[in-house]
Amino acid sequence: MDLIHLLPDSVANQIAAGEVIQRPASCLKELVENSLDAGAHRVQVIVRDAGRTLLQVIDDGCGMSEMDARLAFERHATSKIREAQDLFSLRTMGFRGEALASICAVAQVEMTTRRAEDETGTLIEIHGSDVVRQEVCSCPVGTNIKVSNLFFNVPVRRKFLKTDQTELRNLLTEFYHIVLVYPKVNFTFVHNDEILLELPAGTEKQRIEAIFGNPKRNVYTSAFVDINTETEMVNIHGFVIKPENATKKAEQYFFVNGRYMRHPYFQKAVLTAYSGMLTGEYQPSFFIYFDINPEAIDVNIHPTKTEIKFADEQTIFQILMASVREALGKFSLAPTIDFENPDPLDFPQPSSKPVSQPQVTVDPTYNPFHTRGAIYPDRAPRNWEDLYEGLPNIQTHPAQPSDPGILSLADAETCPLWQYGGKYILAPTANGLVFINQHRAHIAVLYAQFIEQLKHMQGAMQQLLFPEVLALPKDEMVLVNTMLGDLRAIGFDIEQLSPDSYSIQGVPAQIANMSAVPILQDIILQVRDRDADTQAEWREQIAMSLANNAAIPYGKNLTEEEMRDILTRLVQTANYRRLPNGKTIVSLLSDEEIGKRF
Ligand code: ADP
Ligand code: MG
Repeated sequence: MDLIHLLPDSVANQIAAGEVIQRPASCLKELVENSLDAGAHRVQVIVRDAGRTLLQVIDDGCGMSEMDARLAFERHATSKIREAQDLFSLRTMGFRGEALASICAVAQVEMTTRRAEDETGTLIEIHGSDVVRQEVCSCPVGTNIKVSNLFFNVPVRRKFLKTDQTELRNLLTEFYHIVLVYPKVNFTFVHNDEILLELPAGTEKQRIEAIFGNPKRNVYTSAFVDINTETEMVNIHGFVIKPENATKKAEQYFFVNGRYMRHPYFQKAVLTAYSGMLTGEYQPSFFIYFDINPEAIDVNIHPTKTEIKFADEQTIFQILMASVREALGKFSLAPTIDFENPDPLDFPQPSSKPVSQPQVTVDPTYNPFHTRGAIYPDRAPRNWEDLYEGLPNIQTHPAQPSDPGILSLADAETCPLWQYGGKYILAPTANGLVFINQHRAHIAVLYAQFIEQLKHMQGAMQQLLFPEVLALPKDEMVLVNTMLGDLRAIGFDIEQLSPDSYSIQGVPAQIANMSAVPILQDIILQVRDRDADTQAEWREQIAMSLANNAAIPYGKNLTEEEMRDILTRLVQTANYRRLPNGKTIVSLLSDEEIGKRF
């Protein structure tokens, strides 16, 4: 008996959909790209429940004939290429002819479409690859496609979707990638009847401004210098931020031939151009557009992959680096007053004054051990229980269950302590000499404390004398909104001020004398980069970010009391030898090793 048979299209399409349509954001990307390929000037996106129940895209593009409306949902049906050779002169976003076939295999799709030359349009309805209706209809020129109940027939996929907030952020990020390369097209994005983005047609700069811009944020476009380089191999243009406007949380975008791409190697070229101009973890924001002969890049781009291969990456690296360097050099010779915007009161221009670079103000007299009630009692702690006064139900971990050898609670409480090199605490114990990294030890202690405070909603708040404003792009507004309860629980007094900003009236007591905005931005950055999607995950990031910012720095001289305070608390944390990121806190120089030296 023969065993092989061809899969029905509906099954093949569902398998393909597994690759192409992974989440609402990938579906949105395909639909909007189709609208742009159809030459639309105006694209409306309407979303319900982060795309779970509805993703609708309405365009005023070329529309489809009655026949094409049906064919569009077939696999490998495309109007964009005819033969393999066409792949090498590709100027459209799509070309595989897979997207609509995949989408209609895993959702309920209703589409109306009409070409300018036709008097009537076509309505077609497809549920899980089955055409349930096709008829003549009256509709405007263009295409209106409604994708309902995505993954209705693929429960596993549905289960793997993240929270609405995360899926909405994914939708917005995907949307940014596209709208940033089509500034001449008018876009709107509506979620649950709320207009999240309204982007009128304009220039690239105006588009960046409309998404990320805000006088309170450093991505404000007057903080940018233009780059522009034309060579035989590649044309590069775009905007890079002035070094003093770098932030910890930067927006870094590359586009090639109208398509978003990730390119770590080219990112390095940009960073190299900035070398010596940035401090610490500060990152430049940039929006860089490459124009290159399609033959010089790998065209067989997978729809869900954003990495793109170039034929001669080293040369482009050099061109890009030189281009950025030249732009930054030009700018540093130019006057720093921005005469184009003479009204510094309305819009404080980041460029009009030598900008206070790291926004964290350092108070040299700051001593975390001699401040504010709940966390650091004024009186020196006599025993560790005192430190947790007022905190309910503290879970104390049995001291180092895994390695009783290195440092016991008794050691921490009684053995002599010295500080070495402004960096280490030294504790001689029965087993040898224990080195404790003071900064990391304090991070571990604070981290455990913040986690506990989050659990019990017991953060200590310090009112700010001067409220601060945290202005954010839409996707990050969504992100902060998700964490709002926990940010408040830990001590931030934070309220939404406008559709794109929060006001901060108070901060956790442990960071009372620091600027709140960079710390909140750091939290957002960590949560975003780690895809912290559950409450437990984002609590970890909040706690770690605050601990990193509040921990005593290297170089700080510690009294014996302070050292003992840190150590007694450190040994009670769940894993006192390492930070969650794996970095060593405690290290033992054993008697044996010491003996070998003599
Ligand atoms: P691809 O974009 O790779 O060609 P799709 O499955 O996304 O494949 O779309 C199939 C075809 O349907 C496209 O080639 C195009 O001819 C047509 N089409 C899809 N969406 C639109 C639209 N919004 N307006 C006009 N034509 C469209
Ligand atoms: Mg397409």
